[in-house]
Amino acid sequence: MSGLFAGTSLERPVTCERCGEVLAECGCPRGAGGEVVLPSDQAVRVWREKRRGKFVTVIRDLDEAASDVPGMLKALRKKLATGGSVVAGKKGAEIQLQGDHREVVVEYLKGLGYPAKGAGG
Ligand SMILES: [Zn+2]
Repeated sequence: MSGLFAGTSLERPVTCERCGEVLAECGCPRGAGGEVVLPSDQAVRVWREKRRGKFVTVIRDLDEAASDVPGMLKALRKKLATGGSVVAGKKGAEIQLQGDHREVVVEYLKGLGYPAKGAGG
């Protein structure tokens, strides 16, 4: 029996709007609202700030749900051989690293597909 919705989108399995895969097989990163958020969708900023006379490199505007923030922190701490932590910022999680590593961090993020830019003085 041909159903009322034969041939319409309601009969097809729901597929990812980005990669076209059936949702169960889609590996696209998603934000808290369930929408696809790729690294290329995140215009992250890397700030260099001075605190108590010492430089701190801060990564802002990361989508916490769609990005592996703890994994990035771990990789950057190892790469830069410095201390760092994830803190709650005004607009979600921030990665803070001790020292001035802005240029290296921007390149690292670009390598992951983020359109990262340096910010601050
Ligand atoms: Zn997908």
